[in-house]
Amino acid sequence: MEVVKITPRGYCHGVVEAIRALRVTSEQHPDEPVAMLGYLVHNEHVTREFADRGVRLVDAGSRLEALDQVDSGTVVLTAHGVSPEVKERALAKGLNVVDATCTDVIRTHELVRRLGQEGYEIVYIGRRGHPEPEGVMGEAPQALHLVETVADVEQLELSSEKLAVTTQTTLSVWDTKAVIDRLRERFPRIEVHNEICNATLERQEAAVETAASCDVVVVVGSSRSSNTKRLVQVVKELAHRPAYLVDTAADLRDEWFESAQRVGVTSGASTPSQITREVIRTLEQLGEPRVASLRGAPAPSAQDSGSKQPD
Ligand code: SF4
Repeated sequence: MEVVKITPRGYCHGVVEAIRALRVTSEQHPDEPVAMLGYLVHNEHVTREFADRGVRLVDAGSRLEALDQVDSGTVVLTAHGVSPEVKERALAKGLNVVDATCTDVIRTHELVRRLGQEGYEIVYIGRRGHPEPEGVMGEAPQALHLVETVADVEQLELSSEKLAVTTQTTLSVWDTKAVIDRLRERFPRIEVHNEICNATLERQEAAVETAASCDVVVVVGSSRSSNTKRLVQVVKELAHRPAYLVDTAADLRDEWFESAQRVGVTSGASTPSQITREVIRTLEQLGEPRVASLRGAPAPSAQDSGSKQPD
């Protein structure tokens, strides 16, 4: 079984920067409480690493609710960004604020703020309950409509002369296309600002392209991570290959690879590379005994030739 490492995969620049910011902060303030406002990036391994360094994860229904649980020390805002209200309230509480928002997310915030100020009504395609839409919506709450699906578009009532649509950074182009197409049909004058980030786009394109020559694809990452889940989705829906999401090598199942000759491996933008390396190593080992047993097995007799797989 050949294991194909799909490139690019794993950490994006936003995640690298967020992790660096939190490492520096925890080293600079060893005696002060440091809290992450929600998951710094959507990966349990990263969260555990910081918990071991004494960084407290404060997670709640919303970033504002989470902030209610932080009364002193440093608060780190995650790569997904927060609404201006969260930042203002953190400063008003006298907290030391470290903003690890990804520059790509900041760009979306700036876009939405500008459009809101210019009087646009804005449709934002995103996932309800994800922190990124929560933060972006806070930039222009009066002007924004959050939609996930084409069915949501059917319910929209837009009255402004100026209309725009933009997106969460970690969706897929294919995912958003149907929604944007329907918006264009219903509101032909709508301006489209696609904000899917390059890191997401490049990982998805590479996964789809490589999956076409693989029998199965393994995606390493957390089920919390939007961009990781989209990788699974694009492999299944666009490359028409089975795709399995694993958090670690322990989640791999032999039966997924029973008849596979080529297995592709990719990982979400928040997946630590050592976890992906371990998955690749395990898959490579999984392939070895079968090859060895085939090589070591006696040549099949004519009687055996119609039999099933060798043991
Ligand atoms: S996935 Fe994109 S938006 Fe999210 S942190 Fe990475 S580069 Fe930034």
